[in-house]
Amino acid sequence: MPVAPILDPSSTYGFSDSESFAAASEAKVGAGYVYTRWANPTIDAFKSTVADLEGAEASEAFASGMAAISSVYLTLCSQGDTAVVARQLYGGTHALTQTLLPRFGIETTLVDVDDYDAIEKSLDGAKLLYCETIGNPRIVVADLPRLAELARAADVPLVVDNTFASPMLCRPIELGAAVSIHSATKFLGGHHDLIGGVVCGSQEIVDRVADLARELGPTLSPFNAWLALRGIATLPLRVERSSRSALAVARALDEHPKVTDVCYPGLDGDPSKSLADRLLDGKGGGTLGFDVVGGRSAAARMQDALELIIPAASLGGTHSLLVHAASVTHTQLSAAELIAAGISEGFCRLSIGLEDPDDLIADLDRALEAA
Ligand code: PLP
Repeated sequence: MPVAPILDPSSTYGFSDSESFAAASEAKVGAGYVYTRWANPTIDAFKSTVADLEGAEASEAFASGMAAISSVYLTLCSQGDTAVVARQLYGGTHALTQTLLPRFGIETTLVDVDDYDAIEKSLDGAKLLYCETIGNPRIVVADLPRLAELARAADVPLVVDNTFASPMLCRPIELGAAVSIHSATKFLGGHHDLIGGVVCGSQEIVDRVADLARELGPTLSPFNAWLALRGIATLPLRVERSSRSALAVARALDEHPKVTDVCYPGLDGDPSKSLADRLLDGKGGGTLGFDVVGGRSAAARMQDALELIIPAASLGGTHSLLVHAASVTHTQLSAAELIAAGISEGFCRLSIGLEDPDDLIADLDRALEAA
């Protein structure tokens, strides 16, 4: 028996008799592998592993986090429908909901993730309520049980992007969400070497998402499923380590004279600390935000002076990565939208990797001298 997962790259499967070929083709899944856009053994292994980790009945895999997110919207919403969306969002999801979906007649009502009155009022007739467990980019923790309660009362599914938390810190379905989504590109993969996504939920809802995906075609490649499985083997260790290091870095930045507004839910006094204690196993995760005194030009000088931390647009992997929010992850937002999302000119997001936290703090200290 092999210890490592088996990589099956085949795009299609041969049949020795016409009857089973016809039967398997009609079923698409469950009666033998036919074609990898429909199902593949390595992708199936990835799907069942993530569903297990999320405490979900089922999951469907995608070529990217955005493919997973857009497929959920297109499954649950049709022309003329409305979704209620928490404003504290990854820029790509902001663009999807504010620009692309309206072109297909799907409108959204933007609300603050903690404005429960506005959320309750908006839910009437909506097709889904959407938020991120840890909202981008200010690392705001969502009160998922409370949102799930509001969604349940309105008979609307709560859909959660759980990318920043990973299933190690939070399992939204256990807290009442109908759907939990990941960009597997981040913590699940964990090594900056794959793009992928996954949608977890009940068998019924995942079957509907999978039906859409089989026609639309945003399929995860078997190799990326294999890489993601390899990454998941060390997920608990990586999340534990990056959370511990992120707390040390957040504390150091909080004391630094050239930094203000450190956002990290593990930090005493952070607005999300009590929610993180309750919902994230007492941890703050591997991502933090901070504002460089002096605005955009000072943040750029700091970024250019980094030697260990890499200026790069992703998170949740082995290496620590920094992005300047207004010029990289949230370029889709107008100046007014940036202010509404609490993104100031000097705001940076830092994803902590597996390096020695003392080395990371020394790198930031040195770079901030240039700011
Ligand atoms: N969700 C969150 C919270 C993200 O940060 C990102 C990407 O950064 C995505 C979704 C999109 O994932 P992908 O880049 O895999 O499409």
